[in-house]
Amino acid sequence: MKIKSVRTRVFRWTGETVAPQANFCTNAADALYIRGDAMGSFRFHEWLVCEIETDDGLVGIGNAALAPRLVKNAIDLYMAPLVIGEDPWDYAHLWEKMYRRTLAWGRKGIGMTAISAVDIAIWDLLGKSVGQPVFKLLGGRTKEKIPVYASKLYSDDIDRMQAEAQRYVDQGFEMMKMRFGWGPKDGTAGMRENIRRVEAVREVIGYDRDLMLECYMGWNLDYARRMIPKLERFEPRWLEEPVIADDMHGYAELNAMGIPISGGEHEFTLFGFRQMLDIGAVSYIQYDTNRVGGITAAQKINALAEACQVPVVPHAGQMHNYHLTMASPNCPMSEFFPVHDVEIGNELFYYIFEGDPEPDNGFIDLSDSEPGLGLSLSRRHLDDFEILE
Ligand code: MG
Repeated sequence: MKIKSVRTRVFRWTGETVAPQANFCTNAADALYIRGDAMGSFRFHEWLVCEIETDDGLVGIGNAALAPRLVKNAIDLYMAPLVIGEDPWDYAHLWEKMYRRTLAWGRKGIGMTAISAVDIAIWDLLGKSVGQPVFKLLGGRTKEKIPVYASKLYSDDIDRMQAEAQRYVDQGFEMMKMRFGWGPKDGTAGMRENIRRVEAVREVIGYDRDLMLECYMGWNLDYARRMIPKLERFEPRWLEEPVIADDMHGYAELNAMGIPISGGEHEFTLFGFRQMLDIGAVSYIQYDTNRVGGITAAQKINALAEACQVPVVPHAGQMHNYHLTMASPNCPMSEFFPVHDVEIGNELFYYIFEGDPEPDNGFIDLSDSEPGLGLSLSRRHLDDFEILE
């Protein structure tokens, strides 16, 4: 089996969107408020689809959500020529070849996201070529089914957040994650707004369910130091990305304070995670398979994290993450983005692909017989996309 072609397409959503609340989630650009450059509403409505076809007619599907048009160019110009004509079963070599040939510019960010999309498509191919789901190639079934946490609860009016939390409880979720809407620019009054919302969600879900808290890098070290003691009484399972991804020592300091810190969705490769683990930066690793180097890199990080006894909970829903979670004893759960109208952009993959499992009472399961990752391109919403070839 040889790789014959690599096709990339950017799916740009042109259909209806829902506008989120003004303070729906803090982000890294909020720190620029002194110059008036806070980012405001951070949303993205494009997604990259990468299809790899073999000489015997199989097609593997990978995808990427980060800067899709740049990633498309990186794949078309640099990655595709490196894998065409090769045997996809030589995936470890192909990964190294893409990594080392693009190392000068590609180690992190766009380059590694391009490698990730190609690698995910290759793994989908491997599963299809032997008629097995990908998780069977990665280690098989380590759990009967995967516990998932509902991940939305954007910062909003308290009534609406409480109603949303109640909906997840009613649907059987034992875990959920909420976003903070206020950061350093909003002062002490903003701190109180954040705390009121954590209190309000706890009021609905009680203390026998897990609550995760998300900052999306919208705080700074000083603000996080002040917030953590105020949040401890709400017993969060973790506090996610309190500071920007490059401030690893900041993570390590906060992780020693009293609430487990999580992060890693903006970190790359085995080496990046070795650095995080070496200094105790996080209590939970959340690589994004779409960016970290695909399934080939994620498998290595899973092993490294297991040796450090730091659990891995991949960032985002999506099939590549579910297969890795199913196959690793060190992945206790998966994130799940509830299906809803197009808003932030997280939910776009539901409109592009078919095959993502529905949660049932807080768990999802994967088919033992569906080959590959189990995804196919959907035709249902094609009219709502502009497709850039
Ligand atoms: Mg996150």
